[in-house]
Amino acid sequence: RAHVAGIEALNPRLNAYVTVTAEQAIEAAQASDARRAKGEAGPLDGIPLAIKDLFCTEGVRTTAASRILHNFVPPYESTVTTQLKRDGAVFLGKANLDEFAMGSSNLTSAYGAVQNPWNRRNDPDTVLVPGGSSGGSAAAVAARLALGATGTDTGGSIRQPAAFCGVAGIKPTYGRCSRFGIVAFASSLDQAGPFARTVEDCAVLLRSMSGFDPKDSTSAEVAVPDFRAACGRSVKGLRIGVPKEYRLDGLAPEITALWEQGLAWLRDAGAEIVEISLPHAQYALPTYYIVAPAEASSNLARYDGVRFGLREDGRDLKDLYEKTRAAGFGAEVKRRIMIGTYVLSAGYYDAYYLKAQKIRALIARDFTEAYQKVDAIVTPATPSAAFAEGENTDDPVTMYLNDIFTVTANLAGLPGLSVPAGLDAQGLPLGLQVLGRSFDEETVFAVGSAIE
Ligand code: GLN
Repeated sequence: RAHVAGIEALNPRLNAYVTVTAEQAIEAAQASDARRAKGEAGPLDGIPLAIKDLFCTEGVRTTAASRILHNFVPPYESTVTTQLKRDGAVFLGKANLDEFAMGSSNLTSAYGAVQNPWNRRNDPDTVLVPGGSSGGSAAAVAARLALGATGTDTGGSIRQPAAFCGVAGIKPTYGRCSRFGIVAFASSLDQAGPFARTVEDCAVLLRSMSGFDPKDSTSAEVAVPDFRAACGRSVKGLRIGVPKEYRLDGLAPEITALWEQGLAWLRDAGAEIVEISLPHAQYALPTYYIVAPAEASSNLARYDGVRFGLREDGRDLKDLYEKTRAAGFGAEVKRRIMIGTYVLSAGYYDAYYLKAQKIRALIARDFTEAYQKVDAIVTPATPSAAFAEGENTDDPVTMYLNDIFTVTANLAGLPGLSVPAGLDAQGLPLGLQVLGRSFDEETVFAVGSAIE
């Protein structure tokens, strides 16, 4: 009830939720109370969560923050949300996001921008973005409008908003969480993961969200460890890699200082800091911005106005498709569909898509080689603190730079955790990122909780 009251008071300003399911939440909480009274509580019984509006929820509208899905009520539930409910979680509603999870600011939502609950000390009236695409999830957790949230991360969409809003968030290894019932953006990169106030809470949520699912052909048949037990585990003797290519010219001095501070904490805790090289990291952004739109252009072909979602009238079938897609998709989504269609076209496939796939393999190989020398890698989560609309947002290429530290993990399928690690001079939160080996989230949690 406290969370529902908080949402009523603050959501009109923050716009973190697209849909609030207060009545269902109270009912679910009462059922939880009954289970707890009988001593039958699950690991998340009564825990109120926000669900990114990209996860299909049976009987509850799921929009992907797009006009084209404004009236879509899924007849089924995603696997991740099914598992959270199985463990007793209570859903407060559906969290806002960038349309189809394409963006780093939440400015592309068809349901309006999300406000970051944080403000600059010297300029408290300027509204800042929460990051994206899972900006509603991050803002809800930061503003205490949920105890945790689900997100998805295709190129940084959990880790960047977590850093901008001062909360923790993890993108697990590709295949750790089922993608079944999550609206697809770029299927070879998309991964679900949790947000929470602490690294340990993320570990608890991730355990419930993880596990093999025969309904997702890329879901991995590996055991789900007790991630929580790894939090607080000693980092003594661990080797922590620092990629020299990430010491970018022009990186904000506060980010560099935070990074050094995080490494110093780890050194004090007995870890060894090792310089490593990821020679192909410099190609990660252009590679990502070919692969992701290519897959998106294919995935979004299903929104034709015939089977579900928005339908505009047309003279004939082609006209109906065109009018529906013209009215239903926002500008960024159209840009991605056009880029994707171009790089996959017969004349340009070899030059763009095929080349990007080859570089993707080289990026993955860089990590395999690095992980022979180190157990985890620590980098900044983002190149800056949260920005305001208009500061960074007018040019799509500048916007894409937000993902510079995060996209490599998606291209290589590796786990990455964003840990709130400090504040800048304006009092805004900054995050550090911990990357790990494939399916070694435990080391990531151990290192993350040592930094936290
Ligand atoms: N900002 C990146 C993009 O716009 C990543 C988004 C995401 O991870 N879903 O594609």
